[in-house]
Amino acid sequence: MLYLHIPFCKKACHYCDFHFSTSLQQQKPMVEALCTEIALQKDYLDTKILHSIYFGGGTPSLLTGDELQQIFDTIRQYFTIADDAEITLEANPDDLQLAKLQTLKAIGINRLSIGVQTFNDHYLQTMNRTHTAAEAIACVENTKLIGFNNFSIDLMYGFPAANHLNWQADIAQVLAFRPTHISTYCLTIEPKTALYHQVKTKQFVPASDNFAAEQYEILIEQLTTQDYQHYEISNFALPTFYARHNSNYWKKGKYLGIGASAHSYNGTTRQANIANNNLYIKAIRQGQIPAEIEVLTPAEHINEYILVNLRTTWGCNREWLATNYNYKFSEKLLAAYAQQGLMVYDSQTVYLTSKGRLLADKICSDFFVVL
Ligand code: SF4
Repeated sequence: MLYLHIPFCKKACHYCDFHFSTSLQQQKPMVEALCTEIALQKDYLDTKILHSIYFGGGTPSLLTGDELQQIFDTIRQYFTIADDAEITLEANPDDLQLAKLQTLKAIGINRLSIGVQTFNDHYLQTMNRTHTAAEAIACVENTKLIGFNNFSIDLMYGFPAANHLNWQADIAQVLAFRPTHISTYCLTIEPKTALYHQVKTKQFVPASDNFAAEQYEILIEQLTTQDYQHYEISNFALPTFYARHNSNYWKKGKYLGIGASAHSYNGTTRQANIANNNLYIKAIRQGQIPAEIEVLTPAEHINEYILVNLRTTWGCNREWLATNYNYKFSEKLLAAYAQQGLMVYDSQTVYLTSKGRLLADKICSDFFVVL
């Protein structure tokens, strides 16, 4: 699995704490650096066959066709892209005009993840998004027109409102498009973001946790009755369209991350590239990978596995945890949570119910090994 981080955005969304820069002049040197890093890291994975390539960001749809082609040519120099590989590109609606969509398809992108967030212009403006609701609608229509049969829509809930009408309208609009996949995010106030400052200075009053939880329940109800499988706490897919890239993360598969702030995992250690575009480019030009390597302790492996897999539909494999880490779930806790309708378990598997997913952080932490 290969991940490429494209750390550029036209504007800073007020809630965002990802690594990106709005200084687009560095796009060309960054693409050069990405290609160099692919060569430098060609032996990181124990296979040369890629079943998934994921362009994340930032805003990968800012890349030109030539830049994407350059990256693909480099990937093909060092790896073999499997015939059925899932090749995803995250995109913002204002970048996806017909000509751009055609270019992406011709280059080999076969899955788009479109950052719609909401079809409400007021919220889009409040959050400093680059696109309008009309652009989002046109972009999804064009995506289908060009023949991208596999696309995901990102939706955000938890905007402050008097009622849930806008949220229900957003869900209805998404369902009308029938994407193969829907990722959902609750609006959260992350430190060091513009939104955090607005909350501190009382310019923005966030919705209550209860209000957001009600929207999450509405979401689950509406999507699951339309054949979407709630396969991970924030993700829904039509059968056979689970995101391959994310599923690999959740199943603790190996992956190589290229670019500033990208993470890699080789089964034993995890490494994180520096989250600074200038320093990243400089180091790569000198033939160095500017990464910190983290060796996970057994307790960290266990906790990470529980944190990630309890939230998925396949749950935690009890035998795997026992064999690999001698970890056993507390039967007393399991029984207590099952009685409250928050967990389901048998001798093989443990997972959260829909109700349990609302309290995922708390429940997971109760099963953690103390570090
Ligand atoms: S487009 Fe995405 S990565 Fe860029 S600022 Fe907005 S949310 Fe963050």
